[in-house]
Amino acid sequence: MQSDSRYPLASDRSERPVEERSHFDRRHPVSAVAARLCSPDHAGRPVGGPACGRCWERAIRDDERFVIEFDVPREVKRDPMLVDDIAVQLACQGEPVRLTAVELRTAVSRLVGQGLDRSEIGRRLNRDAAMIGRVLVTLQAMATAAETQAAKAAGQAGEAVPAGGEAA
Ligand SMILES: [Zn+2]
Repeated sequence: MQSDSRYPLASDRSERPVEERSHFDRRHPVSAVAARLCSPDHAGRPVGGPACGRCWERAIRDDERFVIEFDVPREVKRDPMLVDDIAVQLACQGEPVRLTAVELRTAVSRLVGQGLDRSEIGRRLNRDAAMIGRVLVTLQAMATAAETQAAKAAGQAGEAVPAGGEAA
């Protein structure tokens, strides 16, 4: 087909759609976090986008603070949202493995699931107990955001609301 030959740029574009996309889309490292924080009723949330500007900002700030506070690598060659399960497993066994932010959270939540307390988790992951406490706070905030989302979705699906609740 030669009909498009006058518009080589158009066909070139169609082969590389990634470069046409917004920087703040689902490929962004903190996209999943931003999406978890955000709610469909937030103002300015782009159609089809994972989150509104405020939630993007919060996710990016939280991530930055996490990187600094927990001394995790900022530059990672692989997908920063991807969890290296072997690395997490080794870290949980007390091996000196350098974890990314998301892997550290995964390791902490895994050890909590095994019933270990903060100081034992800290010993395994070579962090002090106070740091582990702060990771737990982050994890709880994430879980709460996810629960709020789920509750909203359930409410929209017409699920019963406890009696006595009044409309705001
Ligand atoms: Zn939002």
